[in-house]
Parts: sequence; structure tokens; C-alpha cells
Amino acid sequence: RDYKSDQEVRWCPGCGDYIVLNTMQSFLPSLGLKRENIVFVSGIGCSSRFPYYMNTYGMHSIHGRAPAIASGLAVARPDLSVWVVTGDGDALSIGGNHLIHTLRRNVNLKILLFNNRIYGLTKGQYSPTSEEGKVTKSTPIGSVDHPFNPVSLALGAEASFVGRALDSDKAGLTSVLRQAAEHRGSALVEIYQNCPIFNDGAFDVLKDADEAQRRIINVVDGEPIRFGREGEYCVTREGFGLTVAKSADVDASDIVVHDASDLNLSFALSRLSTQDLTHTVTGVFRRADRPTYDDGVRAQVNEAKAAKPANLSKLLHGKDTWTVVG
Ligand code: SF4
Repeated sequence: RDYKSDQEVRWCPGCGDYIVLNTMQSFLPSLGLKRENIVFVSGIGCSSRFPYYMNTYGMHSIHGRAPAIASGLAVARPDLSVWVVTGDGDALSIGGNHLIHTLRRNVNLKILLFNNRIYGLTKGQYSPTSEEGKVTKSTPIGSVDHPFNPVSLALGAEASFVGRALDSDKAGLTSVLRQAAEHRGSALVEIYQNCPIFNDGAFDVLKDADEAQRRIINVVDGEPIRFGREGEYCVTREGFGLTVAKSADVDASDIVVHDASDLNLSFALSRLSTQDLTHTVTGVFRRADRPTYDDGVRAQVNEAKAAKPANLSKLLHGKDTWTVVG
């Protein structure tokens, strides 16, 4: 099946958005879904042009409000696979409130957060994920804002699925996307995405082969957390948190084994990712089963319909003018 639309892709040459789009277009067919049962809802920003380029249903919606619109869709149409596409400004600034409430409610949505640490569409202002000291058009002598760590934020809202991947790591990105797609509930995937025009090279240290060995900690559920060439480094416990050590200096039994159902461990892992990218954790931080908001709403509606109580109108509206149909 062809998931490419006939629209001309209008991102700047070299934009990381192309890789994510390409990855999504090549991965989606493997889910075996009908294209007409897939919907991409976006907000405002460069990445929010995404729905135009997918040969599925889609909606380029309102700044920061894509999770709210997608929530309504997920509640009304459980037969659809609903994806939200958003950026660091859209999701974490104007849309921050909508994002955290969607995550805590556990609406059955897959949320792709393209994080390029800058406002690209409006030409280069600092965003909620820009690092402290960042010089941009709106912070000419450096940002004094402390940035959000999107994974920590999502875990603070007790999101039931949280992952992170790099735009340039197609295999890693595909793996996280596949797991997100298979998850029932809100799945937030943060994607480090290069903006070559306004924040070029923001993640280059993670793309250099030698530096990546030292910096990227890819976690796999059930496996000891080692990284670097031949597992040279590992993650161990330190107080209530985690720290990085040389594997040779640590007893094997002290190496932390990833457990994505352990919220405290997931949160401690998120804190290992520093804004200066000394270390960055990728993979699936958290995966937990808990009731979804949309299932709960539909169950209540179905229960009310089945019961057809004579006093339903009175219960809902304080008057007897309501008719239950179906
Ligand atoms: Fe991509 Fe940056 Fe251009 Fe936006 S401004 S399309 S994020 S390269």
C-alpha cells in the first residue's frame, strides 16, 4: 500500500522531518490497517504539515490543541488509529496543558513530539526545550529559561507509554513507533529532530559514531542497561536515582535491569538525559496497562443506553425531555 500522498513536501532541504515522514510511511503498512482507518491530527508548526503528506485521513488543526481534537475523535471512533503530530513549541508551550491532561487521562492516541529545540515556522525563537544560554533571535544574549525534559514531563503525568528516538536512527525510531502503535492508551514518542535552518546540529553529538557510543543509553525492557562499545559503560543505582559507571568497575549484579513497568525507574532514567546531551536515554522508558479514557466514556454511554432509565433525562438535565435512542 502506498502511504505517500500526492502533495509536494514543503519542508526545508535537509530537515529531519523528512526522515520521520519516510520512516512512518514505510512502517505503517506493516500494521495491516486500512488507510481510511488511520488519522493524523496536527497542531501548528513545521512538523504539523505532516498530515498533508500521508495518504490517510488527517487534520491540520489549532495551535497546541491537536491532543484535544484527537481525544474527541478517539472517543467517538474506536475503530480508528489516531496519531497526533506536534512540535516542542506546539506541544509544550501553548499546548502544554492539553498534552499533560491527555496523558494523565490515557486517551488512546499515539503522540509524535518532534523536538528540534527551536521555533522553526516562526523563524528561530527559543522554545520550551531550548537549552539554557541558547542564543536565538528572541534571546540574543542567551536564554535564561530552564527547559522541559519532555520524557520527564510525560512520566510526571503518569503517561502509560513514553519513548524517545533520534530522527537519523531509522531502526530505533521504527522500533519505538511500532511499540507505541501496539500500545493501548496514550503513547508519547519524543523524536530529536534536526532543524538545519534555525538550530542546525543540535543533536550532532549523538550522531557522531564515537560520541554516540559514549552518550546514547538505549534501554530495552528486561535487559541490563549497558552502552558503549562492547558494553563498556552501564547504569547503576545511586540513592534514589541512577548514575553511569564503567562496567569493569561494577559487579554485574549491580547493573540496573530495565523494567518499563516501573515508573520510578523510568523517571530516574529520564533524569539521566541532560540538556547538554552528556547522556541521552533512548528506547521505551515506560509501558503500563491502565484503563483508557475513551474506553471508560464509551462504557458509560453504552451502560446508560442499555439501562434506558426512565429518569435519565432528569439525571442529566434535571428535566424529562431526553429520549434514549438505540
Ligand atoms: Fe524543518 Fe527547520 Fe525548515 Fe522548519 S524551519 S521545515 S524545522 S528545517
